[in-house]
Amino acid sequence: MNYHILNKDGLDGFIKELSKQMKVYAPVSRGHGNFAFEEVSSGAQVALKYIPTILPPKKYLMPQRETMLEFDIKGERPEDTALLEAEEIALFGVHTCDLAGIQCLNMVFSERPRDYNYLLRKEKVFIIGLECNAYCDEHASCALVGNQLPNGGYDLFFTELGERFIIHVNTQKGEDLLEGMGLPKALPADISELARAREGKKSVFKNEIGVEPGKLPEIFEKAMNSKVWEELGKRCISCGNCTNVCPTCYCFDMADTVNLDLKTGVRTRTWDSCQFETFAAVSGGENFRPERAARQRHRFYRKFKFSPDKFYRFFCTGCGRCTRTCMAKINLKETLRALAAESK
Ligand code: SF4
Ligand code: SF4
Repeated sequence: MNYHILNKDGLDGFIKELSKQMKVYAPVSRGHGNFAFEEVSSGAQVALKYIPTILPPKKYLMPQRETMLEFDIKGERPEDTALLEAEEIALFGVHTCDLAGIQCLNMVFSERPRDYNYLLRKEKVFIIGLECNAYCDEHASCALVGNQLPNGGYDLFFTELGERFIIHVNTQKGEDLLEGMGLPKALPADISELARAREGKKSVFKNEIGVEPGKLPEIFEKAMNSKVWEELGKRCISCGNCTNVCPTCYCFDMADTVNLDLKTGVRTRTWDSCQFETFAAVSGGENFRPERAARQRHRFYRKFKFSPDKFYRFFCTGCGRCTRTCMAKINLKETLRALAAESK
C-alpha cells in the first residue's frame, strides 16, 4: 500500500504543476448548486465539495459528438481514413460513483469488436479520484450499490483528512507523478486516521432505500409486467435527459454526412437515448418500444438486470443524476421502492 501526504494549501501548487504537463479538468461551481467538469489551472478553481456534476466525466472519454472517419469516393470503393484522436488529460476530483461509471464503460468498450476511439482516450486520461466525506444529497444512492468507497479505477485517490489530503497511489503513472513532485510518504498514523475516517462514514452513507441490493435481481425477475412502468410512462416526456447525464449510458447513433462535391464526407457518432421514440425503430416501420412505459422499463432493466446479468455489476452507480435532472420528477429511489413493495 503506497500513500502520500499533501497539505491542503499545497493543492494549488499540485494543480499548477500538473497543468504544466497536461490539461486538467476538475469540478467547478456553476452557481445555484450546480457543478461541471471544466478545465482548471489553479487549486482555487476546484470545488472540493460538490454534488455530482451536471454531466459525468464520460464526456471526456466519449464526446457527445465525434468524427469517426473521413471518406473519399474516388474509385469503385471509397477510401476511408479512420480518425483516432486523443490528447493526454487529467481528471481531478472524480467521485467514487463516477469512477464506477468509467469502470462500467471500460467493460462495455473493451468487448469485441473493441472501440478503439474510447480505449485510446481512456489510455491517455490520468484519473485522480476524490472521496466524498459528507453525503451529497437525497437523490444519491451510492450506498445501495456499494460505491460510497473507492474500488479502483484511478491513478491517484485523494481523501481529505483535516488540513491534509492522504493520497492513495494505484498505478505506476500515479507513483511517477508524485515522486516528481517530491510529496512525502504517509506515516502509519496517517493510514490509521484514514481507516477511522472510513469507519465514521458508515453512519453517514447508508442504504436508506430499504431495498437490499442482493434482492434486486429477484425484484427485476418479477417486474416485467409491473404497473410501475405504466405510471412512469404517463409522466415521462421522452426528453432523454436521464440517459445523457448517466455515467453508464453509452448508446450512440451513427450518421454519414456527404459534402457538396458528393464524393467526400464524414461519419460521426452522437449520443443517443433509449428514451427517444425512434430509438428502437427499424427499417420496415417496426418499432420495438413505441410506448414510453416500455422505454422506461428498458432503462431500469439496463441498470439493474440486463447489464448485471452480462457484466456481473450494477450499471447504476448511485450518482442520482437521472432523478436530479428529470422534469417529470421520475425518481430512481422511489421507483426501486415501488418495485420492491410490489414484489413482496
Ligand atoms: S429525464 Fe425524465 S422525462 Fe426525460 S426521458 Fe428521462 S425519465 Fe423521461
Ligand atoms: S441510473 Fe441514475 S443514479 Fe444510476 S448511474 Fe445512471 S444517472 Fe446515476
